[in-house]
Amino acid sequence: MYFKMTLVPFFFAAPRMVQRQCRAMTSQSVSGKTTLSSRLAKQIKVTKTKATTAKQELWDIEDLHSVAATTAPRYFSPVQTRKQRQVNTLPKSNLPAKKARQDEVSKTSKIKIGTATIIKCELVPPNETMLELKVEEAAAVKTEQDFPNANWLQHLENIRLMRCEKPAPVDTLGCHQCADQNANEKTQRFHKLVALMLSSQTKDETTFEAMKRLKAQTLTPASIQGMPAVELERLLHPVSFYKNKAKYLKQTSQILVDKYNEDIPDNIQELLKLPGVGPKMAHICMATAWNKITGIGVDTHVHRIANRLAWLKKSTKEPEQTRVQLESWLPRPLWSEVNHLLVGFGQTICTPVRPNCSECLNRHICPASASVLAKKK
Ligand code: SF4
Repeated sequence: MYFKMTLVPFFFAAPRMVQRQCRAMTSQSVSGKTTLSSRLAKQIKVTKTKATTAKQELWDIEDLHSVAATTAPRYFSPVQTRKQRQVNTLPKSNLPAKKARQDEVSKTSKIKIGTATIIKCELVPPNETMLELKVEEAAAVKTEQDFPNANWLQHLENIRLMRCEKPAPVDTLGCHQCADQNANEKTQRFHKLVALMLSSQTKDETTFEAMKRLKAQTLTPASIQGMPAVELERLLHPVSFYKNKAKYLKQTSQILVDKYNEDIPDNIQELLKLPGVGPKMAHICMATAWNKITGIGVDTHVHRIANRLAWLKKSTKEPEQTRVQLESWLPRPLWSEVNHLLVGFGQTICTPVRPNCSECLNRHICPASASVLAKKK
């Protein structure tokens, strides 16, 4: 009960505070040597010096339990605890802030969920399902022991901050960006499915270029069906496993022509029956093509980072095991966002080999950071 009372206001106040921090940070001119951490610290210092006036606005999270439930709404800083502020050193940074990104970051939107307002960064592709969720569903959270790691929300806030600061290939070249905006909706849905099928074990840049070559001709299920296999393979190369993917694309296109009038299925079960479509692709396809959140799209980045951050009760070997565990405790309104956040975070900072832990805001609360740093020595 105590946890429920404390987590829920924290949960909804947190994104609001992150947005304030991001806006404040991006409005500054940033020299190449300033770190995200130091800018964050400056923000906190400003808040502290204005303590008497700002107290009504921003409270330390540690004071949460001392505030009577009947008082006016309070907002609690989720960014760092008091202890973290004390222990956080401020190393020199090589984290570049780009002006284009600053403009991007300012594009945030407010989403009402019941009586709560969530500030959503535009980096994350929108989905309508989120709008339909009631606050009770989001808050039907879970007791403390349901969370595999008590720091998970702090991890998430830090990743939001880092993602706002550093662009990732998925933001501009991800599958949701691969559809021809001038095509009709049905064709756009097919483009997203094709991009997802090509993206497996392939860099976003390579997938995006292959999609450009495919779209330079007509890209519909009928056109793929009628295209010689050799020509399709030539267009897909150098996408990894391009021969297999060409074969799956032709088989899938045949099914879409025969059964779905050249559209794609609107449910997860039918999507999974298409050749070459696995659970990750199917869930992301439902989100990007149909705006329906049916599950967390767990790719190699989400799988790796969830294990590194100990977001799982037991470490996993397969992405599908990770998906099942994450969905068992992560609040549903975060499912879509988590996929996009973690993929970009894995492309830029928490990379598969030699993750950039010294630059990571989670370095003091990440179970993997110490071992990673030790291996580097
Ligand atoms: S492994 Fe390193 S980069 Fe990844 S979350 Fe942990 S501290 Fe951050």
